[in-house]
Amino acid sequence: MTVRIGAAEVDRVEEQQFPVPLSLLTDETEFIDRRIGLLPAGFLDRSSATFQFFNQSWLIRAGGLTVLVDPCNGNGRERRVPYFDHQTLPWLRRLHAAGAVPESVDVVFCTHLHNDHCGWNTTWAGDRWVPTFPRARYLLAEPEYRRWDPASGHPHPNTHNESVFDECVQPVVEAGLVELITPPHRISPGLSIEAAPGHTEGHALLRLESEGERAYFTGDAFHHPAQVTRPDLHLPGCDDPALAAASRRALVARLHGERAYLFPAHFAAPHYGLIGRDGDEYVFVPAPARGPASPVS
Ligand SMILES: [Zn+2]
Repeated sequence: MTVRIGAAEVDRVEEQQFPVPLSLLTDETEFIDRRIGLLPAGFLDRSSATFQFFNQSWLIRAGGLTVLVDPCNGNGRERRVPYFDHQTLPWLRRLHAAGAVPESVDVVFCTHLHNDHCGWNTTWAGDRWVPTFPRARYLLAEPEYRRWDPASGHPHPNTHNESVFDECVQPVVEAGLVELITPPHRISPGLSIEAAPGHTEGHALLRLESEGERAYFTGDAFHHPAQVTRPDLHLPGCDDPALAAASRRALVARLHGERAYLFPAHFAAPHYGLIGRDGDEYVFVPAPARGPASPVS
């Protein structure tokens, strides 16, 4: 399914999905009944008290550029989390089905450097990890790069993210394909990278504007639509939960004001949407399940 944002095209490239206990986010039954229970099925399975957590990349064709956002986990990696360990998933075939091959990707943007956002940066060549996208510029926000770089003098290792920098970032640096940028950074007239810190220190987002329509590719600034209404809610694993909540709160108001589309990294179907108002609360408005995006009135 291709979503049109003005003259730009956006496609989703799924890697995997698995259930996550909703209690990691909230156990407030009144809020769950009032808001989460009204969302599409993937955001709450009442029988198991879980929601579906997707790993998916966004492929953007805009202004002559092919841009890949958040290339998931990658295959063949040793990971502590069973869902990610030595996986053999057809993500590259799905990228092809979405209309791109590794050689046609011009820009790779990782919102942050957790394992599920930079895995396909590299693939195993039999004896070493090599860049998957040989022609691409890999754009990384400098604060995020420094947060993980062992040579920076102040990395903060994270048990769920060990070896990710060595396997998914360093080989791309050595190939000369990484461009460290300082947000805000303009890629092209309609594409820019902005800081959205908190989930990780240097977490950033991609903003797309085309023919008066806007979309934000927000990585892990949001994990679940409940956070649109309640920016204070978060899953475990944030570098700075209070800063993440402040970034989220600002984004909710801004996207609502701009009537912009929200394209998060992990949302269940329909995977993207708008921000609306219901009474005195902001709410996530899921996009139509099929067809092009259309402007809201
Ligand atoms: Zn993530």
